[in-house]
Amino acid sequence: MKIFIATKNQKKLKELSRILIPMGFEVVSEKDLEKPLEDIEETGTTFEENAILKAKAGLLATGYISVADDSGLCVDYLGGAPGIYSARYSGGHGNDDLNNKKLLSELEGVPMDERTAYYVAAIACVFPDGRQFTVRGECHGHIAFGEEGDCGFGYDPLFISEIGCLGLVSAEEKDKISHRGKALRLLEVELKKYI
Ligand code: IMP
Repeated sequence: MKIFIATKNQKKLKELSRILIPMGFEVVSEKDLEKPLEDIEETGTTFEENAILKAKAGLLATGYISVADDSGLCVDYLGGAPGIYSARYSGGHGNDDLNNKKLLSELEGVPMDERTAYYVAAIACVFPDGRQFTVRGECHGHIAFGEEGDCGFGYDPLFISEIGCLGLVSAEEKDKISHRGKALRLLEVELKKYI
């Protein structure tokens, strides 16, 4: 059975393929399409809504079962910001350095016990017959007073998890406790119920 992974991000493609191929799916991605996926506007108000929007665009383009994800960082002191706007927090898309600087400045003077935060990863799966589901993984921790390490990506040098600052841990260690690792494991469990 073919399944389309609706992402332009090669790392996400790899992570999702690692779960879906052993389940017996034939993974189809953008490179297998005749024309590239159009960039869709992430107009949802939740991670789940945005993941569904991306997965539905994949289904529309291919007719295959489609999966997509959406993720971000929610900081309690900031009322959940940057949340679904995590990638573009400082303006342009995906400038990790500027995003981290902005986050630190928004939290200037805030004590450690009020710097609680959590990452969210939502993965959506939509089927040609109209069925759909989402799974969600969360990873809770604190925002540090300064950046540490250069492992991971995005806000990881500022995120202190239960195993320490994510800027300092390997991808394998992070997988075990990360929002994305948890969501991927839930995807496998949930998808088995649908096929
Ligand atoms: P997406 O590609 O639309 O899901 O955007 C995700 C954004 O959220 C990234 O650009 C990062 O800023 C942030 N983010 C999500 N997951 C992580 C993570 O595991 N580490 C660091 N930043 C993350």
